[in-house]
Amino acid sequence: MSAAPDSRPAVVWFRDDLRVADNPALDAAARTGRPVVCVFVWDEQSPGLRPPGGAARWWLHHSLTSLDADLRERGSRLVVLRGQAEPTIGALLTDVDAAAVFWNRRYGGPERRIDTAVKTAAREAGIEAESFGASLLFEPWTIRTGSGTPFSVFTPFWRACLSAPPPRKPLAAPARLAHGPTVDGLAIDELGLLPSHPDWAAGLRDTWEPGEPAAHDALDAFATSALPQYREDRDVPGVDGTSRLSPRLRWGELSPHQVWHTISAARNARTNDGALADAAATFLAELGWREFASHTLFEHPDLATVNIHREYDSFPWPRLHPSVLTAWQQGRTGVPLVDAGMRELWTTGSMHNRVRMVVASFLTKNLLIDWRRGEQWFWDTLVDADPASNPFNWQWVAGSGADAAPYFRVFNPELQRTKFDRHGDYVRRWVPEWDTAEYPEPVVDLPESRRAALAAYETVKSAQRA
Ligand code: FAD
Repeated sequence: MSAAPDSRPAVVWFRDDLRVADNPALDAAARTGRPVVCVFVWDEQSPGLRPPGGAARWWLHHSLTSLDADLRERGSRLVVLRGQAEPTIGALLTDVDAAAVFWNRRYGGPERRIDTAVKTAAREAGIEAESFGASLLFEPWTIRTGSGTPFSVFTPFWRACLSAPPPRKPLAAPARLAHGPTVDGLAIDELGLLPSHPDWAAGLRDTWEPGEPAAHDALDAFATSALPQYREDRDVPGVDGTSRLSPRLRWGELSPHQVWHTISAARNARTNDGALADAAATFLAELGWREFASHTLFEHPDLATVNIHREYDSFPWPRLHPSVLTAWQQGRTGVPLVDAGMRELWTTGSMHNRVRMVVASFLTKNLLIDWRRGEQWFWDTLVDADPASNPFNWQWVAGSGADAAPYFRVFNPELQRTKFDRHGDYVRRWVPEWDTAEYPEPVVDLPESRRAALAAYETVKSAQRA
């Protein structure tokens, strides 16, 4: 297919930025005045790429469907292709005789290799190729210590972010996109992202509505209702006290810039409200943890498999009976807060942050199971499973990561329950048989397993000394 020079299209390659508003790549394509071809490539073949797990695939299916509908309203549509990204995009650029290709950056190692290769090949073919910062507030290479190295501790990292130039204002969605040439693609259904045999997604459907319009509703609802109490409520799993925006940010239905400016506007609307200002600062610092995780992935591309602190490589993970891991996965450990969290995860594809910390500590410390096993389970079951945040937080809890909690700080899941679920609302919701004869005894003795964890940790310390 060949077109007259001025009607050659601009291609926008969507990845984890499934939105039309504040999408710099889409905005750049629209501004060229050329026809726009929007494409998503389902890539299970490129070396090193980590295919999304089941719950994340479910989300992706619906988010792509929503994006396609939004693009159609603007005169375009989403072309869905399957295959190794580099040759697939290369072939598309040739097929449509593209003048330009635009995308928003990703920060994982394999993703960056693919993107660099696509960019180089496109430019060599005389096609304009540009990437944009869209899913982070601060590009990793712009936040550095005084001596030019990346930060390994959160507090000074976030201080440096807050003194950098503030995040740009969000871009409006292009009202109209000139229709590009017709490209044969797949129907989203053909990617087979939804579970069918069995269909385990009923709880996900009951809990979530993926897609950009619902993401904006969720952000606005949080900014107007829960934000003022965020500091007090965010640690209480029985209360709807957090934003629940993580899958929206993971899949880019919202940009962090939109979240940042919406929360800042809510704060600025009541300048004399010190409590609201504190709540907003606390919330924005959570976005800071998301940034810190991605910056850490940028520096440590093998974050999901390799300890940041390599002395943990000598940690003597004992060989436990696989039934212990299964009990944890299924929420049958006999420890109520852990079981509640694991069942919430299985049913809804999500888990409250406080409880994520507790179940991760329980797995790695009381059960002495390698953090990578827990990370993989979360990867398969979370709708927000994120290549940066998931391994980052697992390493943080396990003690091997950036700014990690010291290993000897073993969460006591019973104390956590009495402190953060004082009236048992959360546990009773997910573990109705709690407090009955049916509920099993704990799979491990909590004080004894804590002592065993600390003894195992001693071997890491000796390795460190050696
Ligand atoms: P809010 O409290 O409303 O926070 C707002 C936003 O800040 C979140 O949407 C999220 O984008 C970000 N955020 C908050 N806490 C963190 C954090 N500790 N690290 C990184 N970003 C954060 N978050 C993911 O998005 N994907 C993951 O795969 C993931 N895996 C985790 C694994 C473990 C073991 C732990 C302890 C935490 C993990 N988190 C992960 C972080 C956190 O639990 C979720 O981001 C949070 O529970 C999402 O709920 P929310 O949107 O209501 O959060």
